[in-house]
Amino acid sequence: MVLIFSAALGSGVQRVLAEPENQQQLVKSWSIDDFDIGRPLGKGKFGNVYMARERETKFILALKVLFKSHLEKENVEHQLRREIEIQSHLKHPNILRLYNYFFDRTRIYLMLEFAPRGELYKELQKRGCFSEQQSATYMLELADALLYCHLKKVIHRDIKPENLLLGLRGELKIADFGWSVHAPSSRRKTLCGTLDYLPPEMVEGRLHDEKVDLWCLGILCYEFLVGHPPFESSSHQETYRKICKVEIHFPSSMSDGAKSLISQLLRHNPVLRLPLKGVMEHPWVKANARRLLPPECTASGENEGPH
Ligand code: ATP
Ligand code: MG
Repeated sequence: MVLIFSAALGSGVQRVLAEPENQQQLVKSWSIDDFDIGRPLGKGKFGNVYMARERETKFILALKVLFKSHLEKENVEHQLRREIEIQSHLKHPNILRLYNYFFDRTRIYLMLEFAPRGELYKELQKRGCFSEQQSATYMLELADALLYCHLKKVIHRDIKPENLLLGLRGELKIADFGWSVHAPSSRRKTLCGTLDYLPPEMVEGRLHDEKVDLWCLGILCYEFLVGHPPFESSSHQETYRKICKVEIHFPSSMSDGAKSLISQLLRHNPVLRLPLKGVMEHPWVKANARRLLPPECTASGENEGPH
């Protein structure tokens, strides 16, 4: 057996075992011994995330370490399985790559793309709010990434600043597919997501489809420009009420273009929400967005990576 090791121009690691006799290729499984573990990047509900370096190629990535016992106790193994299944198939410059995963007796390890500039949420807290140029750029990146997800019949359902990370040049990366779902033809009826970002159809317990992500885009755009989400209130009940009535106040300082985009996304009736293509072509987005694509991106918009 010959070990073939290829690193695609710094964009990923792919390890394949080739059997010369029958040309059959098997993907080699990883173990913790393949990595040097670096500084902790953060703590999640079910484990910790560390910076890590693959020993042979020196490729830098983020290793998310989850404890099996903890996952079992909270009964979320199915959610993790779905997260792995979905995220490992998504290859887009604005979606955090899940390269692979492995496990030992007590832990599950997710090999994730490293997002050098960390959480968008922290950046928003630091700055208070974002400029029109910055916000429009994020909207363009998000709309493009979600369009890709929806074409693959994946709904994220939990788009909010806490689930967005930043790449080396500040480009946005959607992370955390724990609440996402493969939506073949049936529409789902689960209550998930965070209160401020819940669309009326989910608050009201109706069936929902991929148009929930359009609502979340509207909430995000508002929060980027204003510094807090539009329906934020002192009680949950009040937030629910405002969401269902779409009771929204725009600060006088907000431009007409931004108001137009947000109000076209925050429509009570999901069918009337501006589709993702419309977001990308919205005059305010077109006039303000300054998108940078990472160099490893191909013409198809997909970044090369490992399996
Ligand atoms: P949840 O358990 O709901 O997913 P969480 O999103 O806070 O909670 P993690 O996804 O485990 O938890 O991540 C914890 C923190 O680690 C993040 O908030 C982020 O700051 C950091 N982090 C996670 N993944 C990466 C990554 N790929 N690159 C850089 N930092 C990361
Ligand atoms: Mg998260």
